[in-house]
Amino acid sequence: MLTCDLHTHSLFSDCGNHTILELLEWSCKKGIKGLAITDHGPKLFGRKISSTFFERLKNPYENKIKFFKGIEGNLLKDEGKTDIPRKFLKHMDIVLLGFHFIIPKNLGADYYTDLLIKAMNENRFVDIITHPIDHKYPIHYEPVIETAKKTGMALEINNSKLELKIVTTKQQKDFLELCKAGGCRIAVNSDAHAINELGDDKHVRPLLEEVNYPKELIVNHDLESAMHFIEERRKFKLKA
Ligand SMILES: [Zn+2]
Ligand SMILES: [Zn+2]
Repeated sequence: MLTCDLHTHSLFSDCGNHTILELLEWSCKKGIKGLAITDHGPKLFGRKISSTFFERLKNPYENKIKFFKGIEGNLLKDEGKTDIPRKFLKHMDIVLLGFHFIIPKNLGADYYTDLLIKAMNENRFVDIITHPIDHKYPIHYEPVIETAKKTGMALEINNSKLELKIVTTKQQKDFLELCKAGGCRIAVNSDAHAINELGDDKHVRPLLEEVNYPKELIVNHDLESAMHFIEERRKFKLKA
């Protein structure tokens, strides 16, 4: 079980099952110490960003759990662009970015790699690249790992993609070996869409152990490291 899960979805994502309160309550029940709610950027399902979530909602369980506000933004096909609304950045603790179905398929790994690297270089307020292993959007891993290192971003190890068999154990393990060799920071997340998935790392945990991934390179290996990562990255959001 993750102590701090930095990637989950509520009802504000059309694919999420639960309210923000339900996610927080169940995370407390499960003993999770830190939870980021990171609903999808506005271009994925065409929903408006909830300004009250970012500007007004306070953590109702302050003594039980750290609540981080975030977003999982979308890469757009215009070079280097994302749908992350800059006006809310100052209220965000964590910013995720990933490929989703709004990007055309079958354009080849060179195209997707260039697109991602441009977006990473031009949106320094992004903290984590979500599910970098995706057969629909293949990328060359080495240059992305290098860019993550240069920009201080973390690459995600996503439990849900393994659970859903979208990523194989071998693909995930090979990717971890490359990240380790490149000295790249990673974030281990559930990408939960349902309360039973909150904090779940059962598919990725054995691989991290097999590869013996250095703890200091896992940005959310505990609550303290996650908070340190979030604070280290905040300057990019305030500058944007
Ligand atoms: Zn995603
Ligand atoms: Zn997600």
